Amino acid sequence: MEKKDIRSLPPTELHAFFKTHGEPAFRARQVEEWVWKRSCKDFNEMSNIPKSLRLLLENHFTIHGIRVDNMQRSVDGTIKNGVKLHDGRVVESVLIPTEKRITACISSQVGCSLDCHFCATGKLTRMRNLNAEEIYDQVVTIQQQALQYFNRPLTNIVYMGMGEPLLNYANVLKSIEKITGDEGLGMSPKRITVSTVGIAKMMKKLADDNPRCNLALSLHSARNEVRETIMPITKSNPIEDLREAMLYWYEKTGKKVTFEYVIWKGINDTEKDIAALVKLCKQVPSKVNIIEYNTIGDDRFQMAGSEVIQKYIDALHAINVIAKVRQSRGSDIDAACGQLANKNLANVAV
Ligand code: SAH
Repeated sequence: MEKKDIRSLPPTELHAFFKTHGEPAFRARQVEEWVWKRSCKDFNEMSNIPKSLRLLLENHFTIHGIRVDNMQRSVDGTIKNGVKLHDGRVVESVLIPTEKRITACISSQVGCSLDCHFCATGKLTRMRNLNAEEIYDQVVTIQQQALQYFNRPLTNIVYMGMGEPLLNYANVLKSIEKITGDEGLGMSPKRITVSTVGIAKMMKKLADDNPRCNLALSLHSARNEVRETIMPITKSNPIEDLREAMLYWYEKTGKKVTFEYVIWKGINDTEKDIAALVKLCKQVPSKVNIIEYNTIGDDRFQMAGSEVIQKYIDALHAINVIAKVRQSRGSDIDAACGQLANKNLANVAV
């Protein structure tokens, strides 16, 4: 029988295992600290655990790790990691350095099932969900790289890599618990942002569970008839449902939602498009991040000119909504938003 990863056990089961084997509860806590806080991958290195217990653990469990297979550095300092999982599958995670922050952009699924037409990850088949350990380990890896290459700690985490976090809900939630928990990295949830394509039901669930993180919605258009043509998920999750879910989110958490928004020529660059966004922002407490379009080689999508972008910003500022243009980083190594597609590898499936 294949051994289970000790980190995949719910805490109650782990504690029960120790009890069944006559071990005191504090030993379970010590082991938890080894595997989460210290990211230990070898039972033999658990120096404060008696040898007999280390052997017992080794006979019953394993500790899977991830391995950075391929690391690329952009001219702007961004680092992209091709991360190999224990079963050979590969995801990408990105370290984004700015003057004030070091942000980890992490993946939640191998590939993606959503098929947003402008996104390179959307062209990949969704192979599987990442488990909480694999999500957590990407953060640990980038935390180490932040210190090694920039001599500064990791400050922010965004679930904006490959996959849709709200379609891997339980594992994403557990990873947030471990990133923020004392037995894990002890980071503030205020520094974590979960980004979603917009799945109303799951946005409400996140509001109910309220892990105290931030929520971003990849909106790109506030008009169903436009959004449907570029993001098929809109058919089952129209703007009305997303609006209701965001209001619920605000009611439960008191936090504004951040809209991610790319402006393309001939797609969402008219007065009508601006008016629809302004209307939505009036209804939902929100901020807007206008993201630069990173080309993925599809001619249908061309970023709108600066004039249109300024029109959007002026209209949003006029109703006192914070709206900023976010420059993309790492595009020279295909590490920018929407470009994660394991390009440097022959294929994702192994
Ligand atoms: N599935 C989640 C997490 C991915 S986040 C979500 O959709 O939010 C990646 C962000 O980059 C999303 O806002 C996505 O809409 C945006 N994006 C995708 N392709 C892009 C591209 N080519 N240029 C700029 N942004 C892109």
